[in-house]
Amino acid sequence: MLIINPATGEAIRDVAEDTKESVQKKFDRLKAGQAAWATHSLASRVNVLARFSALLDSYKDTLAADLTAEMGKPLTQARNEINGARARISWMIENAEKFLSDEIMSESDRMIEKIVYEPLGVICNISAWNYPYLVGVNVFVPALIAGNTVMYKPSEYATVSGISIERLLKEAGVPDDAFQIAIGGRATGELLLDLPFDGYFFTGSYQTGKYIYERVAPRMVPCQCELGGKDPLYVCDDIADIHAVAAATADGAFYNNGQSCCAVERIYVHEKIYDAYVDAFVNEVKSWKVGNPTEPGVYIGPLARDAQRAVLEAQIQDAVDKGAIIACGGSRIEGKGYYFRPTVLLNVTHGMRVMREESFGPVIGIMKVHDDEEALWLMQDTEYGLTASVYSDSEQRAHRILSAIDAGTGYWNCCDRVSAAVPWSGRRHSGIGVTLSHAGLRAFTKPKAYHVKRSM
Ligand code: NAD
Repeated sequence: MLIINPATGEAIRDVAEDTKESVQKKFDRLKAGQAAWATHSLASRVNVLARFSALLDSYKDTLAADLTAEMGKPLTQARNEINGARARISWMIENAEKFLSDEIMSESDRMIEKIVYEPLGVICNISAWNYPYLVGVNVFVPALIAGNTVMYKPSEYATVSGISIERLLKEAGVPDDAFQIAIGGRATGELLLDLPFDGYFFTGSYQTGKYIYERVAPRMVPCQCELGGKDPLYVCDDIADIHAVAAATADGAFYNNGQSCCAVERIYVHEKIYDAYVDAFVNEVKSWKVGNPTEPGVYIGPLARDAQRAVLEAQIQDAVDKGAIIACGGSRIEGKGYYFRPTVLLNVTHGMRVMREESFGPVIGIMKVHDDEEALWLMQDTEYGLTASVYSDSEQRAHRILSAIDAGTGYWNCCDRVSAAVPWSGRRHSGIGVTLSHAGLRAFTKPKAYHVKRSM
C-alpha cells in the first residue's frame, strides 16, 4: 500500500498490508496475552502509559513531521495534536485509580456490596485519519489501562503514525501480545469484523459506523461509534467584540482544514450584527496563508484525500445553483497536491447540501436569522448530534438554546474543542457510546457486582 503525501501527490512510502492469516495470528496473540496483561496491577499499567506519553514528547518533532507528510496538516497543528494527546493521557493516568478501582457501594456488619471493573477482553479499534493521535489515544490508552489487549487499525491515511504509535507503546513497556496494529484500508477493516473481539470501538464516518454497528450486532458485545457531525454555531446580537468572535469562530470552522469531527459546519448570525460579522469573518479567512504545510505561517495545507475536493465542489455547485453567493474561495487550487481554497458561502438555506451534509473540508455556509427561535429551529434541523455552540454575552441565553439541542456537547463562547475531563459523545448519526471522562475510562470495562455476606 502506497502512502501518498497530499502536499505533493507523491508516494513517500510503501507498506505491506495485513492479510487474513496475519490478522488471525495477531488476534490469537492478543487473546492469549489478555489475562497476563490484566494481572499487572492498575498502577503498573498506568506507569507504562505514562512512559508512552513521555516518549511522544521525546519524539515529537519526528512524529509531527511524519503526520504532516502523510495527511497534510500544518506542522504547528501536528505538534499541537501530539501535545493535546499527551494532555489527554495525563488526565487518564491521573484519574484511572479513582474510576477503575473496586468500589464499595454499601457496607454493613453483615454485607458488603461492591463493583469490580473487569476488562472487556480483546478489543478492536478501527480509527480515523484526521487526528490519529487524539482519536487513537481516546481508545487504546484507557483500553490498555483497564487491562484489555488491543488491535488498533489506523486509517490507511495515517498508517505511518499508527506504526509509530505501536513502536512507542512497545518501547514504553506494552507487551507484544497486548497491542498489535492491523495495516490497510477497508479490506483490512472487514477482516477485523470477522474476528470475535470482545468490543469494537470505531471512529469515522456515519456510513461506515452504521455498517459496522449492524455487522457486529449479533455478537452482543459493546460497539461504540464516534462519528461525524454537522455542528451548528449561533452568534447572538449581544456579543461585545464582533472581530474577536469572527476570528475565533472562523478558526473553529477551518482549523485542520475543516477536517475535524467537531469543526463548525454551519453558522447562524443574528440579523442585527450579520453584516459586520460576515465582513470580519471573510477578512479573517482571506488573511490566512495557504500552502505547503511544512512552511512556517501556513494555516491551510492540502486536504488529506484528493477525492474530497470533488465532494466539496459538488456541495458548492449545488449551493450556487440554488442561490448561494461565494464570498471567497469556491474552487480547488490546480497543480500539485490536494489544495482547496477556503470557502465562505452566503445566502445559504437548508435546501442546500452544504447546510445538511458533513463537508469535512474548508467550506462554511453563513445564514442570517431573525431571532433565537429561528436559530434554535435551524440548529436542530439535522440528523447529527455531536456539538453545538452559542456566542452571547448572556450565559442564560446561551444555556436556554444549548439545553434544547440534542447533541453530546454544548459550547458557550467557544467551539471545536475537546477535553479529557468531560464525556465525548455523539447522538443519533454522530454515534453511540462515550470516550473521555470517567465514563470513557469505564467504557472499556464490564462492571461486576459482588454481594459479599460476612455472616449468616
Ligand atoms: P471512514 O469511515 O472512511 O474510515 C474510518 C475507518 O474505517 C478507517 O480506518 C477505514 O479504513 C475503516 N473502514 C472503512 N470501511 C470499513 C469497513 N467496511 N469495515 C471496517 N472498517 C472500515 O472515516 P474517515 O474518513 O477515516 O474519518 C472521517 C470521519 O470520521 C468524519 O465523518 C469525521 O467527522 C469522523 N470523526 C469522528 C470523530 C468523533 O470523535 N466523533 C473523530 C474523528 C473523526
